[in-house]
Amino acid sequence: MSAELDTNRRNFLKWSGLVASSCASLAANPINAASNALKDEEYYGVNGCPVNCGSKCFLRPHIKNGVITHIETDNEGDDEYDKRQIRACVRGRSTKYRLYHKDRLLYPLKRVGKRGEGKFKRISWDEAFTTIADKLKEVKEKYGNEAIYIAYATGTTGGVLSRGTSGPWARLLGLYGGYLRYYNSYSTAQIAEGFTSFYGQNTGSDIKNLEYAKLGLFFGSNPVTTRMGGAGTGYSYQEMARKGGAKIIHIDPCYNDSMVGVCDEWIPIAPGTDAALIAGMAYVMIKENLLDREFLDKYCVGFSSNTLPDGAPKNGSYEDYVLGNGDDKTAKTPKWASQITKIPEERIIKLAREVSAAKPCYIEQGWGVQRHQNGEQSSRAIATLACMSGNVGILGGNCGGNAITSTTYMIETLPCPNPVKTAIPCFLWYEGIRNWDKMSDVEYGVRGASHLKAPIKVLFNTNGNCLTNQHADIQSTAKILEDDTLCELIIDVNITRTHSNSYADIILPDAMHLEQNDFLRPNAAYMSNRPYMLFNKKSVQPAGECMSVYDMCTQIALKLGGESFKEEFTQGRTQDQWLEYLWGKTREKLSDLNLPDFETFKEKGIIKFDTVKPKVAFKEFRDDPQNNPLKTPTGKIEIFSTRLYNMSKTWKLLPGQQINALPVFEDVLMGARDRLRKKYPLQFYGFHYKGRTHSSFWESAPIREINPQEIWINPIDADKRGIKTGDKIQAYNDIGTIEVTARVTARVMPGTALTYQGGWCKFKNGVDVGGCINTLTSMQPTAIAKGNGVHSVLVEIKKA
Ligand code: SF4
Repeated sequence: MSAELDTNRRNFLKWSGLVASSCASLAANPINAASNALKDEEYYGVNGCPVNCGSKCFLRPHIKNGVITHIETDNEGDDEYDKRQIRACVRGRSTKYRLYHKDRLLYPLKRVGKRGEGKFKRISWDEAFTTIADKLKEVKEKYGNEAIYIAYATGTTGGVLSRGTSGPWARLLGLYGGYLRYYNSYSTAQIAEGFTSFYGQNTGSDIKNLEYAKLGLFFGSNPVTTRMGGAGTGYSYQEMARKGGAKIIHIDPCYNDSMVGVCDEWIPIAPGTDAALIAGMAYVMIKENLLDREFLDKYCVGFSSNTLPDGAPKNGSYEDYVLGNGDDKTAKTPKWASQITKIPEERIIKLAREVSAAKPCYIEQGWGVQRHQNGEQSSRAIATLACMSGNVGILGGNCGGNAITSTTYMIETLPCPNPVKTAIPCFLWYEGIRNWDKMSDVEYGVRGASHLKAPIKVLFNTNGNCLTNQHADIQSTAKILEDDTLCELIIDVNITRTHSNSYADIILPDAMHLEQNDFLRPNAAYMSNRPYMLFNKKSVQPAGECMSVYDMCTQIALKLGGESFKEEFTQGRTQDQWLEYLWGKTREKLSDLNLPDFETFKEKGIIKFDTVKPKVAFKEFRDDPQNNPLKTPTGKIEIFSTRLYNMSKTWKLLPGQQINALPVFEDVLMGARDRLRKKYPLQFYGFHYKGRTHSSFWESAPIREINPQEIWINPIDADKRGIKTGDKIQAYNDIGTIEVTARVTARVMPGTALTYQGGWCKFKNGVDVGGCINTLTSMQPTAIAKGNGVHSVLVEIKKA
């Protein structure tokens, strides 16, 4: 770090220290001292938490003398389930510690050392804008617009003018001729592809259905930790589990926090083997005549040979696969399933009978299940169980998908046209840098074109840590980024230093959500069945020289094309004028809702609506399949997928990979039965926990103190290795080594160990002492979605 930057950072440290201790007086504040106060007296602001946990919660910052002293949350109105308050969790309420963190970015920075060395010096905004604009012009001229890319990132989601990936950057680059698109996400790539093949879309029934269910069966699901706030599915799940009286069973390698207090039974399962469990259950259901044959025959394709589509192979049905009439000639008996899943044979039999008898049965999966190398298969297999038991499209049932609501009162967004139609799977951006000339539709899943036309030469990483920390095989990824002859300019926009922005050439300091006006759009899918809208009202002045991305983009537009292009980008509007304009459009579009005027919304900060009826996924299809066909090739549920069958014949795959038309269990790289297990005997993965949302909030000291990074290991495995709780231990494989503290606990099954995902990597002599799971994960994409199968990991563990 340069001496100049150090000096300025010391000033900020002084300031943040003062803020933390006593709401510093304005005179003592070296940054923006004259203008920092919006008001002198103490008052409440209105704001929302924009991180990507899936929820969006209301924040009520207390402000005095231009400084946020503490943050409360929604405390108005009724507080019953159907009229819930939109209360923030402890992470959101700790936002003050991010706002005033000593490592907050304050000025534009330029790399001065080699990429990845982390050496930067302060530059002016003008130099930053000129550097970016000049490179964009050069790259557009030499390679075309496909060489420009905005990487997947979710540190700020839901904002309209402040969102990284689909806000002002997208508008600016779109108007400049476009940029290479991406599709799918790091959260849901495999289930999205699996469910699209199966149901024609990725969806599920609202968790409120659990109230009407006799049995709730959850696969790898932990909403209480993932979405901890009052608005999300965590609270809904607990309420419905208590209120409805359904028996609750969780199938998961670990006893997670969602099970505490409401779960009747935990069935531990070896990671990535859910499709084997379903096949074993199917065997019982077939043999004991427990299937809903009427549903399977009427609504589904390919469960039995009588519903196989034309062109399907002989003995190619799911029933044939289960009974051993398919290519592998292996009956998927409970004994067979038990050997793979580690669930006792008798429990598999009993579970098959329980699911068949309990109608309706709410069958749900979290996203951990699908984040394996065989994730597409597991997600479809769970959906198959919902079909076999006839629980699709009925109140109290679920199609096997993630709990999703149907409320869609959405605020209008910034128009962001993009003339470039070519898209890559978001996980494969690194191939777009190093292997772009090999990227095709049938090998790398390119869409909108048969091949990429250009390498990625300019990359924007906006409010995210997915370039390294949240990607896979961090050290190999870093090597691709280090080579500045490949991607020639990396621009990182953030509020703080991250491992990802160590690889940037230019870092732009972003204004936080408390430092600018914006709307915050809750994720319609996960907001519960009580819709609401949030306004993020500026509470304090931006720290240092931080700027909103809208203002950054406006200035770059000026450099790119003078006043006329700036005018095209802004349409003559400031950020606040865009908000007012978009609110007007929203009121027009949702005129039935009688929305308040802009100023009223801005002052109030939150609009809550009446609850809506719980969504039952595929109800219309179930009620009238002729007039409401699914978006699959046959219009029916495709247990045998013609789309995947065709892909299996045309796509080029990596060694060991396969594409199956049926949701069969597949052995995969670093899976439960990989031969590598002789060398690395423990299955390992990272799971969401309360101390972070992905990698967000880890700079918050109080949160970090009470949620230390740990590895969970079962007492049986710990004893073999002489490990006790509190020991420093290393988990390692051929990809990397992490070192953190051990927690010896029976909450994780034998043969499996876990750590909390999103830890900030920190390498010392090649060992990641920050404990980031992605130091151990493979960059190999999954076969169909080309997504991140990063829960398929094998390790050995030893004392450090
Ligand atoms: S982290 Fe999620 S649950 Fe917590 S306050 Fe933020 S949006 Fe709400």
